[in-house]
Amino acid sequence: MSNAITDWQSKRDDDGILWLILDQQGTDTNVLSISVLEQLDSLLDEIKGDLPRAIVFRSGKNRGFIAGADVKEFLDVTTVQEALIMIKRGQTLFSRIESLPCTTVALIEGFCMGGGTELALACDYRLALDDTDTRIGLPEVKLGIHPAYGGLVRSTAIINPLKSLEIMLSGRSLTARAARAIGLVDDAQPQRQIERAARQMALSPPAKQKMPLLGKALSLPGIRSLLAGFMKKQVAKKAPRQHYPAPYAILDVWANYYGNTKRMMEEEANSVARLIQGSKVRNLVRVFFLQTRLKGLGDKKSFTPRHVHVIGAGTMGGDIAAWCALRGFNVTLQDREAKYLGNAFKRAHQLYARRLKTTAERNAALDRLIPDIHGDGVARADVVIEAIFEDIEAKHAIYRDIEPRMKPGAVLATNTSSIPLETLATVLKEPDRLVGIHFFNPVAMMPLVEIVKTESSSQQTIQHAIAFTQHIGKLPLPVKSSPGFLVNRILMPYLVEAFTLYDEGLAPEAIDKAATDFGMPMGPVELADTVGLDICYSVAQNLSHAFGIDVPAGLKKFVDSKQLGKKSDRGFYQYKKGKPIKDRDADLGDQKMIQNRLIFRFLNEAVACLQEGIVEDQDLLDAGIIFGTGFAPFRGGPMNYSLQQGVEAIMQSMTDYTTSYGARFEPVEGWSKLLEKT
Ligand code: NAD
Repeated sequence: MSNAITDWQSKRDDDGILWLILDQQGTDTNVLSISVLEQLDSLLDEIKGDLPRAIVFRSGKNRGFIAGADVKEFLDVTTVQEALIMIKRGQTLFSRIESLPCTTVALIEGFCMGGGTELALACDYRLALDDTDTRIGLPEVKLGIHPAYGGLVRSTAIINPLKSLEIMLSGRSLTARAARAIGLVDDAQPQRQIERAARQMALSPPAKQKMPLLGKALSLPGIRSLLAGFMKKQVAKKAPRQHYPAPYAILDVWANYYGNTKRMMEEEANSVARLIQGSKVRNLVRVFFLQTRLKGLGDKKSFTPRHVHVIGAGTMGGDIAAWCALRGFNVTLQDREAKYLGNAFKRAHQLYARRLKTTAERNAALDRLIPDIHGDGVARADVVIEAIFEDIEAKHAIYRDIEPRMKPGAVLATNTSSIPLETLATVLKEPDRLVGIHFFNPVAMMPLVEIVKTESSSQQTIQHAIAFTQHIGKLPLPVKSSPGFLVNRILMPYLVEAFTLYDEGLAPEAIDKAATDFGMPMGPVELADTVGLDICYSVAQNLSHAFGIDVPAGLKKFVDSKQLGKKSDRGFYQYKKGKPIKDRDADLGDQKMIQNRLIFRFLNEAVACLQEGIVEDQDLLDAGIIFGTGFAPFRGGPMNYSLQQGVEAIMQSMTDYTTSYGARFEPVEGWSKLLEKT
């Protein structure tokens, strides 16, 4: 590889400070590719003989310092040996930076992730721009690995391990101020001060960041292993080791090797070299790219709405309105009478208390959320979202009333789950402005929104709906108007199979375990209880008409007896303080059979949706299902899983299940097409 230096610029100023500016060619975002690292190595060779007084690392991009390592390069690594070569190259370079005899400063403006943060940690000082875009983190765990360029060693050497381990285990990023509070950066300064502060740090270096006393105590050998054990138990509640080994590996490296820097550095490398093998990391990298694809759909700049009007302040409308106000929109919220608005505002208060740090921010969000019984906001809104209850006549009456008052070009969106948009559009003078913007419950937690298009939705309406979704920080998934759209359609046969298994006498615990062992974030029985059995029943009824799904009788019994799940403290499970009481000794039955029955229904419906063109392609289907249902991310989505398992093998097993359990397991036609392609 050529070491021509194209991505770094170096400028030495009159004070003897060398500014090393990373401006990677051909991309908007800096990543630490092998080439970028090699160029930096060559630069360090060049300056060795004529050392500057100080070096400041900075980004030449408008936004962001360094987004991390180049994840695409991970995919080229096939053996532990290759991984070790790659990792050790990075480690050696960063150790070289650490041992430079001149002062080194990382000037972080905008996002700084993974390898970027590791580079910063190798510098003597870190200075961050105190603005809303700056985010600093070590999110490697989201890709199934952990920091490998010395980030684990260096972060736990200077930061209280409760904090340093927490950011690595969760993968969450910090604002400049939060990073300063835990000692991840030395200082945070506003734009107008930042350059002066960097210069000052470089020329008159302050005392270096040191581990606080409490951190030292927590890192003592006995306490360390106790703390690691406790943290593993916490991690296990969310991420079982068999599917997510990376957080456990972080704790093992720290607990076993802290205090011996050289050995810990080696083990940090060995650990990631092992984790990177196999399909999990590849699949998680795939999920990362799928998310990037959804984020990049459409053109966010093509539509800059300011005012959103939401009609219906129930479970969904209330939370959609609160979310839009949280994201900076002016929102008017309409319902039939004032008494229906109370709960929505109460939940908005709770959301802002959780998500916003200062009273000023919370008050500002509440000020943006305006009660509007008479619907005056309709005339001002760029987007009107209808989320009243599922009733065609009531929705038609609303549309007749609001259409003449809407601004020209404003989007009319419905949140309906089951009424065909074509039916809803019949009363509109301009049916091309109607689109489905289908949010999931709970709105604040679910990242995906389905953008439902009909034959008559105009291209502009769809584009604007996608752009709006991006403005409110959700991932848009364009889907064809068809019963259940994509997510509910695929989920329902899987849930119905769970109800069938229950009716056959299996314990809910057995059914849920089979699904969570596969990698689902929550079992189907608990999921149904959480969504509400009345809602599940109504969606199942709708889809059963469209697709001939048999809804098991047991579900109706629960609904008739008002045992609606978590919200009524009784469904398939009994609930105490919102938590299901599970029988630890429940008979787990034939787990393989249960798992196969659940997953085959899921996969079969996914292939049917692909075949019917509900989404444009396989990748979008996987993306929708991962972000809409939480489908085991490390399996890369149902289509990716099917291809990795082998289409033929799955078809054969499903055919066997048809004989044993019924025609619902018969592979749909789309499987043969898939087989042809493989
Ligand atoms: P909900 O019953 O909780 O709330 C409906 C609200 O609409 C009530 O507050 C009601 O007073 C109000 N309303 C009814 N008629 C009105 C009118 N003419 N003018 C103004 N307000 C009126 O219902 P929900 O669960 O929030 O569902 C709303 C929509 O969202 C439905 O179309 C549903 O299919 C869809 N949806 C629901 C979920 C879910 O999980 N609940 C998920 C996705 C989509």
